[in-house]
Amino acid sequence: MLAIKDLHAGVEDKKILKGIDLIINPGEVHAVMGKNGSGKSTLSNVITGKDGYDIYDGQILYKNEPIIDWTPEKRALAGIFMSFQYPVAMPGVNNTYFLKAALNAKRKNAGKKDLDAAGFLKLVKEKLDDLDMDASYLKRSVNEGFSGGEKKRNEILQMLTLEPELSIMDETDSGLDIDALKIIANGVNSHRSSKRAFLVITHYQRLLKYIEPDFVHVLIDGKFVKSGGKELALELEKKGYHWLES
Ligand code: ADP
Ligand code: MG
Repeated sequence: MLAIKDLHAGVEDKKILKGIDLIINPGEVHAVMGKNGSGKSTLSNVITGKDGYDIYDGQILYKNEPIIDWTPEKRALAGIFMSFQYPVAMPGVNNTYFLKAALNAKRKNAGKKDLDAAGFLKLVKEKLDDLDMDASYLKRSVNEGFSGGEKKRNEILQMLTLEPELSIMDETDSGLDIDALKIIANGVNSHRSSKRAFLVITHYQRLLKYIEPDFVHVLIDGKFVKSGGKELALELEKKGYHWLES
């Protein structure tokens, strides 16, 4: 599903990623762990194609196609989704409208016809229930006045509605209390399937108790210094990152 080969990337003349290799197959959940400033958000931003980043070397393949020249929109339509570390508010943009427009853009791209208002509402209400969210969130502007935890739930609502094949979650656990964390993990777990894959970026081990990764990669200063199974996350919890720093 995703193949990253010797990726070197940065922003504003600063080299941040210094040779990343990563292969994600359908059905797999990969966790990337690392301290603040190690390059985790940069990695997710270059996969989703955020403006302003420079790729110095290497390749990113999605379903065997090179995507570095693709716009973020094209990547999203092709099934790549990102849940942001800091979701932005969009005052004046109704949450229902936003979700429906995004979903119908994807459907159109897949040659399907638009979902009408009733069909959309039925679909989204089921997802709201799964996330323990009240329907009143739909009537509000996207993320405006949402608490940190509500914003993160809204990100997962988008994911469950859009049904991406590759979901990238950038510190979705930050700022969540334990109940919200469990709800979000349940939402993610309900979306797991043999056809979908996840890149779960986190600072802490606690999210990975609830979303069990198949692989864990430790990012230090723009490089993966160690990869392993889920037990590596527990080891990091006990020992910190220090023993892996050179
Ligand atoms: P993480 O998500 O792991 O905390 P980031 O990818 O956000 O790390 O950042 C990696 C490094 O790149 C940090 O030192 C950060 O300050 C720097 N950085 C990120 N964005 C920019 C930018 N727009 N301009 C300059 N430096 C940046
Ligand atoms: Mg970050």
